[in-house]
Amino acid sequence: MIASFERRTDPYMTIQLHDTLQGKKVPFEPLVEGEVTMYLCGPTVYNYAHIGNARPAVVFDLLARLLRRSYKLTFARNITDIDDKINAASVETGKPIDEITARFIKAYNEDMGALGVNPPDIEPRATKHVGEMISMIEVLIEKGFAYEAEGHVLFDVSSNESYGTLSKRDLREMIAGARVEVAPYKKVAHDFVLWKPSTPELPGWDSPWGRGRPGWHIECSAMAEKHLGTTIDIHAGGRDLVFPHHENEMAQSGCAHDGAPFARYWLHNGFLSMDQTKMSKSLGNVLLVHELIKTVPGEVIRLALLSAHYKQPLDWSGETLESARRMLDRLYGAVRGIDVSTDDIAAAEIPQDLIAALEDDLNSPKAMAAFFTLAKELNKAKELNKARDDKTNTGLAAQMYASGELMGLLGNDPEEWFAGHVEGDLSSEEIESLIEKRNAAKADGDFETADAIRDQLGSAGVTIQDGRDGTSWRRS
Ligand code: AMP
Ligand code: ZN
Repeated sequence: MIASFERRTDPYMTIQLHDTLQGKKVPFEPLVEGEVTMYLCGPTVYNYAHIGNARPAVVFDLLARLLRRSYKLTFARNITDIDDKINAASVETGKPIDEITARFIKAYNEDMGALGVNPPDIEPRATKHVGEMISMIEVLIEKGFAYEAEGHVLFDVSSNESYGTLSKRDLREMIAGARVEVAPYKKVAHDFVLWKPSTPELPGWDSPWGRGRPGWHIECSAMAEKHLGTTIDIHAGGRDLVFPHHENEMAQSGCAHDGAPFARYWLHNGFLSMDQTKMSKSLGNVLLVHELIKTVPGEVIRLALLSAHYKQPLDWSGETLESARRMLDRLYGAVRGIDVSTDDIAAAEIPQDLIAALEDDLNSPKAMAAFFTLAKELNKAKELNKARDDKTNTGLAAQMYASGELMGLLGNDPEEWFAGHVEGDLSSEEIESLIEKRNAAKADGDFETADAIRDQLGSAGVTIQDGRDGTSWRRS
């Protein structure tokens, strides 16, 4: 219902971003006036993305939307399709690597699309950039920052004075305290692999150091250089990537480029936990986006992911989705019954305090508060002006949709939303079958499963009531 539209540029905008390297919030200024380059470390494609993996995709999609209002943005999000975990998945399943990566690249894009994540401008794949990686490694050897040993090429961390500055680590202390067994071909334990040999069964490429494959870190440095240049404006990713991945990327790129800064601003999102515990396969609490979107509308998941400031930890529970659902009900409730044209939306102003909140280091909870203030204003106006095409109402509704466009929300028709026809909603059969499962779990005394199913139904907008004649349900 909402066509995409061009936004005018706003010359007065000043964005503040928290830069990990400087350790503080600073005004954002791109290298080239009016243009921004941004690189986000993307997925390693050997399985489905979990809800934690979706957090960087969603929060930096919001940043991309904000930047596009005022700048010509070139946004690259890579695909890591050379990795030992992919090789292991191939051995485990007996499926060829290409088949595994093709399947999970497709699934990743579909799953993120369901969360309203716009495709990046460039989606470089490691397998298509091995030549660039080899060239960068050659430069690093030539300049004395890397060495070859037993078919490996290693980055010599001691040769790089600023190694450790991003993650605030002291290299000498790190080396002294290293407990890891040092591979015989390494000068020191923290020297990391740029290139390693491959056995005949493993994927490999010919190189000056024999048939082998690149290390993970060099993949991103080479792809960023190829598509975004020597110095990029924003480099983003999850907090866990600060060390070693980003520290190593920064070292490689800086050294290959004679000390030119690799990224002007480093942004890292906080971690998502599940019911106060780390998500991990062994705990069995990994929530896959691919599964979740079967029962919960993508917008609910997106808003849940934006409910905390991106730098803060986010603890995920049944309540996280339920409250996001209620918030969206309020937004859709406000615009319900008002006809707005795409022209009205294109011409509408987004409330200044909503934009100011996003410009302040992407403060999404504060932006949502401004969104609700607008919804409240519209609800009040609707009480006063009953005509369906009342100008005040349509004007405010157009502002709501324009704000929704920026946040990646309100993309559905309100009537469909409330009728439960929005993709991701459960069918009556699915609801009944979940209720049956819940009752069976209750009868077995498995209250944890029973509660989990009630939460799942709740987050899909279904309220259940246990009575003498069984369990009844309704869509809320
Ligand atoms: P990976 O595919 O493991 O390389 O992860 C893709 C992205 O998800 C990286 O930016 C990670 O930092 C991020 N990530 C992984 N787990 C979580 C989590 N639990 N919470 C937030 N971000 C995460
Ligand atoms: Zn990376």
